[in-house]
Amino acid sequence: MTTSSIPWLDQGYPHIWLPYTQMKTAGLPAPVRATRGCRIHLADGRVLLDGLASWWTACHGYNHPHIAESVRRQLESMPHVMFGGLVHEPALTLAQRLCGLLGPGLDRVFFTESGSVSVEVAMKMAIQYWLNQGEPQRQRILSFRGGYHGDTFGTMVVCDPDIGMHAAFQGVLPAQDVLPLPHDDQGEALLDALLQRQQDQVAALLVEPLVQGAAGMQMHDPDVLRRLRRVADRYGILLIFDEIFTGFGRTGTLFAFQQAGVRPDILTLSKALTGGTLPLAATVASQRVFEAFWSDDPAHALMHGPTYMGNALACAAAHASLDLFGSEPRLAQVQAIETLLAEGLGACRDLPCVQAVRVKGAIGAVELHRAPDRAALCQAFLQAGVWVRPLGRTVYLTPAFVMPPDDVRQLTAAVLAVLSAVS
Ligand code: PLP
Repeated sequence: MTTSSIPWLDQGYPHIWLPYTQMKTAGLPAPVRATRGCRIHLADGRVLLDGLASWWTACHGYNHPHIAESVRRQLESMPHVMFGGLVHEPALTLAQRLCGLLGPGLDRVFFTESGSVSVEVAMKMAIQYWLNQGEPQRQRILSFRGGYHGDTFGTMVVCDPDIGMHAAFQGVLPAQDVLPLPHDDQGEALLDALLQRQQDQVAALLVEPLVQGAAGMQMHDPDVLRRLRRVADRYGILLIFDEIFTGFGRTGTLFAFQQAGVRPDILTLSKALTGGTLPLAATVASQRVFEAFWSDDPAHALMHGPTYMGNALACAAAHASLDLFGSEPRLAQVQAIETLLAEGLGACRDLPCVQAVRVKGAIGAVELHRAPDRAALCQAFLQAGVWVRPLGRTVYLTPAFVMPPDDVRQLTAAVLAVLSAVS
């Protein structure tokens, strides 16, 4: 194994197992010492401009003092209590606040600690919604090509199998239908035909609204969501929006569904919920869904309850993050970043290796004709002083919303320079 001159890296690395990584062949990862604003400080002295906001979480940049202060205060009074039989102010006021932001029709919040688990809970809610109403056969969740909803077993079966993260586990659980998104009347008719055949088996439709992140920032028109709402209503089934990536401003509105003018029955949130500080996720259900669990029968209760559910520190971080959406011009910043990304990445369209450039909100994507040598590309970005990692064939930028214009220009210039070199 290669070594560095950093003791904690050399001594600890033989004991760590990294995500999505062939540990034998991967080189040493970049050792982070600290973060500040939109920059990652490495232990070897290098400072990287962060193009990814840590898997789309750190929307206010790193180390925002308002979030730090809120968590510090909470730590002093109560870091955590179990959420079974006990409740606390940070969680209840956060639930109320989230429902206020989401608007009428999304009324009940179930907290978990990761995006995948919040999708698992959404799927359980949808299936038990039918079970509690005497339709136990409705166990299918229909999802869509290009979708990614997590890495747990339940969520793996609703991901697009071609995204390539879960090939090793195909067949372990019964496959679900993963369908093309209904972009037009023909697509809607296809979905209709399938539902006519299977309607009494289907509990819900599940989709990432507007942008399918892990598939390489694939973007679709808000009309797709209106079609899905129509189809769900026609068959009386539930509609789940997974806003784990898109929630909290990333696509230009606080939530992506607001651009379509339709509401889901269940919605999942995580990632930027705590401004990239502590793990927290939420599954938010409509009154219609909740009422199916409201019963004298104990077996009709939702059977889920993670140990760290509603963690008070994470709720305090989420409150502070939401404060910042109110006190600082986040959505205007996203709009400005959208313009800069469109200008800066637009120049990549002329490169022979580039198939398409897509921009929406604070998301910019350059899709290549062929999958690049990821390690070589990451190395080139590191040498350019930026933190950028491609997803399959897509090189993308999802900066913090507070990133100053010159820094966004530096990121897009680095993408253009690195892709010009590989072209
Ligand atoms: N759903 C979407 C849309 C995501 O982008 C992700 C993570 O990237 C997940 C679910 C899974 O979230 P987590 O990694 O927190 O389990």
